[in-house]
Amino acid sequence: MSQPEYTTAQATALTNHDRKPIHIPGSIQPHGVLLALSTQLEILQVSNNTQVYLGKEPEDLLGRPLSYLIDPRQVEIVKQCLGKKIGTANAFKVLINTLNCERYFDAIAHRTEEAVILELEPTDSESEVSFLSFHALAGEAIAKMQRTSNLVEFLHLVAEEVQKIIGFDRVMVYQFDESEAGSVVAEVKREDLSPYLGLHYPATDIPAQARELYTRCFLRFLPDLTAEPIKLIPTENPTTHQHLNLSYCLLRSFDRCCTEYHQNMGVKALLVISIIQEQKLWGLISCHHQTPKYVSYEVLKMCEFLGQIVSSELAHKISYSEWDYKVKLKSLQSEFLESISQADNFIDALIKPEIRLLDLVSASGAAVCLDNEITLVGTTPNIYEVQALIEWADTQVSDNLFSTDSLPKLNSEALIFKDTASGLLLLRISKVRRYYILWFRPEVIQTVHWAGNPQESIQAQADGSYTLSPRKSFEQWQETVRLTSLPWKPCELDSAIALRNAIVGIVLSKADELAKINLELERSNQELASFAYAASHDLKEPLRGIYNFSTVLLEDYAQVLDDEGIECLQTVVSLSVRMETLINALLRLSQLGQAQLRLQATDLNELLNQVIDVFRASRQDSGLVDIRIPRPLPTVLCDRVLVNEVFSNLLGNAFKYNDKAEQWVEIGYFSQEAGVQGDKENNQCPIPNPQCPIFYIRDNGIGIPHHHLETIFRLFKRLHSQEKYGGGAGAGLAIVKKIVELHNGKIWVKSTVGVGSMFYFTLE
Ligand code: ADP
Repeated sequence: MSQPEYTTAQATALTNHDRKPIHIPGSIQPHGVLLALSTQLEILQVSNNTQVYLGKEPEDLLGRPLSYLIDPRQVEIVKQCLGKKIGTANAFKVLINTLNCERYFDAIAHRTEEAVILELEPTDSESEVSFLSFHALAGEAIAKMQRTSNLVEFLHLVAEEVQKIIGFDRVMVYQFDESEAGSVVAEVKREDLSPYLGLHYPATDIPAQARELYTRCFLRFLPDLTAEPIKLIPTENPTTHQHLNLSYCLLRSFDRCCTEYHQNMGVKALLVISIIQEQKLWGLISCHHQTPKYVSYEVLKMCEFLGQIVSSELAHKISYSEWDYKVKLKSLQSEFLESISQADNFIDALIKPEIRLLDLVSASGAAVCLDNEITLVGTTPNIYEVQALIEWADTQVSDNLFSTDSLPKLNSEALIFKDTASGLLLLRISKVRRYYILWFRPEVIQTVHWAGNPQESIQAQADGSYTLSPRKSFEQWQETVRLTSLPWKPCELDSAIALRNAIVGIVLSKADELAKINLELERSNQELASFAYAASHDLKEPLRGIYNFSTVLLEDYAQVLDDEGIECLQTVVSLSVRMETLINALLRLSQLGQAQLRLQATDLNELLNQVIDVFRASRQDSGLVDIRIPRPLPTVLCDRVLVNEVFSNLLGNAFKYNDKAEQWVEIGYFSQEAGVQGDKENNQCPIPNPQCPIFYIRDNGIGIPHHHLETIFRLFKRLHSQEKYGGGAGAGLAIVKKIVELHNGKIWVKSTVGVGSMFYFTLE
């Protein structure tokens, strides 16, 4: 949280208030008596209420030795203070002869810079019964506190136990941040009071003077905020000729600002206990009561003691809670590791479940960028803003990480989305591949509520100056903690880096694995191809024998065979012819598996003319063959012989699978300029390289059912019986596909049954 911004005049008002000497108010609260003593224990100053409590006028006491008031044994206890450190107190019960009777007091003597101050608070008896019962309560409270490891639970327990001991209407634990603004982190209250839990208070609520005093004196008790203060007589200390320093006095009176401030909240009694960490004020236990409420000295001491226990336990709880958080982050990291290493889809492993990616660094939004694909999770800027942010943040990255809790201050373009991303953490996984993960945090203003407007605590006076006065309202007010998010903790940054290492490690080992598999695949493909070649080649010889002997039998022994025998032999002959066709197809395919492309610039118009010539020559009805070429084809780098085979096969099929009276075939190509993109969307196959032309062969034939659009490219896949459409080995399209793929191209088809088909292919 940042400090509110003030004008110069406002700032002066603040510092004036901060400088106001609250430790020398010259008065005390009226529930006790104060005596300032010299080093000889002579009474130098008294509070102007000695008559009420002690039955003696101040003038009667001033200049007298302390022994005038209390017995020598107790004077001795006070004397011991002189040998102690400033602020150290000696407390004892004392019986004093007042005007009409004897009365017990709690006497608290403490060393000051000058000499000794003795405070006397009337008490009911000298009995220590109440002390023992409170001691039991405190013992129980301490045991409970020690058992709780969770920081939030611990602080709640502290509030609960303090409330049990003092019975105030509301007990809160405040925690201060680095800017000294406070927030209520635990609260126990009377049911009908409105909650303050979670509210934030500006640093100005507790002036620097008071803050400093809280670090020295751990307890401040104001049992009645409406009570009139009692002046000291004389006003100045006769030895120092200055106001008496009441820093360590329990009875020290309070200033008007503090009274009004609390009265605005309906508070009449106030008890504040300091929580100290590493000699600094970490927070306060603040107890409010709606009516004046007196608490005995023993109970106050018990509360102070409890505050000290809280202070010493706190370090463990904080480190335990940090440790707990770190453990949570670690377990998220290992969950990630497991899912990434097992996932087929890397992005899924990162973003499913979405909350895991956010929890890893306690963010409210994230973006995962893999190549140019960006996936958003939670509350984030839009894709274009994220894209621009990556470009910008990439220049700021060091050690693959960039983090800021005030992005809009560094990059003015981020102002538009400050609500979602005032905090940015960017993790670069790979610059080359453009792999990034970004996490976002909203502006603090979105996440906290201020208890009242801090600006209202500074009020303009008629003369134009400013004074600090208490706020009139404790309604929630959002202070403008502008353009900052909550800061990224070092353990969160570590968590991001650990994720990067895991991803890099796994991706690398996956790449290794893939390379091994590829090698293995290549080897077994080669083996398979040579096996297919050898097998089909060797099969041809016995097949030829079967064919030859069958024809010999048919020609030379026809007279010894009956009709059925002849028919059987004819079937053997035609089957062996078919088998040879199949073997030839297999042989061709296996040859292609081992083929080396002989790439050369090829004018496809020339090549197509050859194909068409051969095709026409093979048909008796060549005059009727309608082949349309809307525009000349380009010259491309390809293996001329193989591409010839592609066009021959596709052209042959286009006429073969056509039952129309007027058959036609169109051969052409799309280039990018001609708006291929639109067409691409209708095709199932993505174009590998958008620069290269897409060739097509379109016919008005029988068409192909939708569910066969991919299967027709499989070896020996035919959609019709042998008798129909002139038969065929069912290998033509498998061979075409193989050739196209040897050229790093793709082949696919669109078709409408009864209307016609359109085969597309590319040659990279
Ligand atoms: P075949 O030797 O049977 O022609 P192909 O591999 O060339 O083998 O084709 C496989 C199957 O795809 C064919 O049997 C046919 O059913 C279907 N086919 C191929 N081209 C076309 C086309 N232009 N129109 C309709 N069907 C076709």
